[in-house]
Formats: sequence, structure tokens, C-alpha cells
Amino acid sequence: MNSEQLFEKSLQLVPGGVHSPVRSFKGLHTTPRFFKKANGAYITDTEDKTYIDFCMSFGPLILGHRNPLVEEAIEKAIKDGWTYGACEPYSVELAEYIISRIDHIDQIRFVNSGTEAVMTAVRLARGITGRSKIIKFNGCYHGHLDSMLIKAGSGLAGTAEASSKGVTKYTADQTLICPLNDIEAVEKCFIEHKDEIAAIIIEPLPANSGILPQKIEYLKAIRALCDKYCAILIFDEVISGFRISFGGMAQETGINPDIVTYGKIIGGGMPVGAIAGPKKFMEFLAPAGPVYQAGTLSANPLAMRAGLATMQQLTPQAYTWLDNQSKKFIEVFKSWCRGNGYEKYHATQTHSLFWIHPNESEEVIRRAEDVPSDLMTMFYGLFEKLLPKGIYLSPNAYEISFISLAHDDKVLSDFEEKLNS
Ligand SMILES: *Cc1c(COP(=O)(O)O)cnc(C)c1O
Repeated sequence: MNSEQLFEKSLQLVPGGVHSPVRSFKGLHTTPRFFKKANGAYITDTEDKTYIDFCMSFGPLILGHRNPLVEEAIEKAIKDGWTYGACEPYSVELAEYIISRIDHIDQIRFVNSGTEAVMTAVRLARGITGRSKIIKFNGCYHGHLDSMLIKAGSGLAGTAEASSKGVTKYTADQTLICPLNDIEAVEKCFIEHKDEIAAIIIEPLPANSGILPQKIEYLKAIRALCDKYCAILIFDEVISGFRISFGGMAQETGINPDIVTYGKIIGGGMPVGAIAGPKKFMEFLAPAGPVYQAGTLSANPLAMRAGLATMQQLTPQAYTWLDNQSKKFIEVFKSWCRGNGYEKYHATQTHSLFWIHPNESEEVIRRAEDVPSDLMTMFYGLFEKLLPKGIYLSPNAYEISFISLAHDDKVLSDFEEKLNS
């Protein structure tokens, strides 16, 4: 069946035809592609058309599709059974490996998704502090748990409201929303809600409403406010962890969060998330401490072995290569834009992440409020032009795209060829 037929069928069987909203190509005026296989930097749809994949499952596949060592680890794991619901050595190995390479964490707990990691981190912060309110930032995404599906209210300044039906007003009242890049707004929250704020949660490299790089002084000031008001600092490194460097933004900036959440890359493409931090905080989690958390399939051997095989390939050299290679891809893209009437497109690239957006001033966009209002229209024009050429970007204007270790020079020349086809 082709993608149109599959989508029509899926629409009958599944709400909106998809299992995660962004896959529906909403606003793209075209049917989502249905892919049947992938290898390296390429992905193939059910009509046998192959694309260079810049979505890479929205981030987990930093090594590319079907990395041989990860594949081997999975094949071996399958022979040993894929879940025991009991203690096993593989998660010990993965935990030891990760902790040995990241200074600011002593302990880690594996879960099954980024959302689950954030859900646990929020509960843990409340459990440690005995307080209830959480500060989050407009433009940061932390998964689909109730307490994070909150946006700035349209009423009085400082009020918050649910961004999804089904999230209660009570929950919204427990979340305070601040704009990014504005430390006064954060301090104001602390002053107004003294002794009520359990934690600040932030993507230290916000990468879910495009890429909104934050200044290091700003992140340091947030750390200092958490210290001053005895609140927990949660770095949500579900995208940035193992992506910009092994230890993510915490390692890059030298700023230590109290709790960090991981996801995406950590499972090598299997569903894994994690909460990590110093022992004094992590041991609040059950059964060591009073904050409950559990999972039937958590740390299942298949995912743990895929995760370890992925982590072991993320050497400092791999990151250097990836950063350089990403620059090359962006250069090729920019020069094609210049030659083809897309001068207004700008690509913000940070390490192996990039975001295409219109930006006439070429100034760094740091706040969700400053994302250009014509973003969608312009992005969709480009996406629809590139798709038939065999180039698959993340299918949404606000989603960023990714370069992997499989995007080598051969793929680079193919990219240039496809752009000019
Ligand atoms: C993707 C993402 C999440 C949610 O992870 P899921 O595995 O999709 O639940 C949370 N936080 C950040 C920063 C993310 O990028």
C-alpha cells in the first residue's frame, strides 16, 4: 500500500491516524510518508522512494539507522530473552558506564521515555523539598505529563493555564511560566511565591520550539537563584544529553543541575529515559527513599544493551567529527538557499542540531516569543520542495533536524546532488 492508502486506513483505526501528533504532517498539505525500512542516513517509504533522513527519529539515532554494533548488541540480546522483570547485569553496566563519564551524577534510574523521566524528576523535586510549585519556561518542552502541559495564561501577568484539555486548573496553578532569557522574571516568581517553589525545570539548550540558545550567564543566574531560594534545578537534557557532548549542556557549561533527565539517545533507539543526580537526591527514590517510582519494562535487557553499544561509540572524537560534518551540511544547504531564491531562510546550527527559520536580522532568537510569526508558511514551502527531491526534514516548523554519524561525505555529496536535482 502507498502512503495515501495507509494513512486513509490508519485514520479509521487510530485517532488522527498517528501515534504521536507531529507524525501527521499537520499543516503540510500533504499525506505523511509511511516508511518501511531505514539504513545509515537513509529512510525508505512504502513506495520504495529513499530519502536522506534529517529527522532521525527526532534525535535518538545519533549513530544513524542500524548502526552495526548496536544491531549486533540487539541480536545478541534477543537470544538471551528481552525482559525478565528482575535484576540483570546489563543495566549495571550501562549505569556504571554513564556515571563514569559524567561528573555531576552519582546515581541513575532508568525508565521508558523522556516524559516518564520528567514526571519522576518533578515528583522527586517535590518530595525532596516538600514544596509544590514548579517554574517552567515558555518554549521548553518536557513531554506530555499534566504538570508540563501548561502555558502562560492570557489573563493576569504570571497566571498559567493548561495547554491541553484534560489538565486541571489545579495542576496549572502549581506551574509558573517564565519567558526564556529573562532572569528578572524568574526572580520575581521566587519573591512572589517564596517557600513554595520546589524546582525550576529548563532545557538548558531549548530545542523544541526551534533552537533557542541561552546565554551561559543566564543559566548560571538560574543556578544561583535555585541555591538562594533552596529550590531544585532540573536540567531536562532529553535532547541535549549525549548529543552536544556526552555529558550534555551540564558538562559543556560546567553548571551542575541537581537532577538531570535523559531520553532519546540514551536507549540507542529503544524506549529508554533516565533520571540522574547526586546520591543525596537520588536516594529519595523508592525503595531507598519515600518518593515512589516503578516500571514493569524499565531497564529491560534489550534496551540496556542497545544503549550501552550506543554510548560506547560516543567518543570525544565522534563529537568533533559530528560538529564539523554538521557545519559542512549547513554550508551546502545555505549555498543552495542563496542560489535558489531562499535567501530569507536562516539555519541555526548548534553542534549536530539545526533549525531552519526565516530571520532577516540574523540575530540569535532566544525566546519563544521572538520566533518569527511567518515560520510555518515559510517552512512548509521549503519542506514540500525538498521532500520530492528525497530530503526528509523533521516534518514541523518548530521541530529541529539532526545530523548523525552516518551522514558522511558520501551522503553530503548526495545531499548536494539531491538539492540541485
Ligand atoms: C523529547 C523530549 C521529551 C519527551 O520525551 P519522550 O520520550 O517523547 O516522552 C522531554 N523533554 C525534552 C527536552 C525532549 O526533547
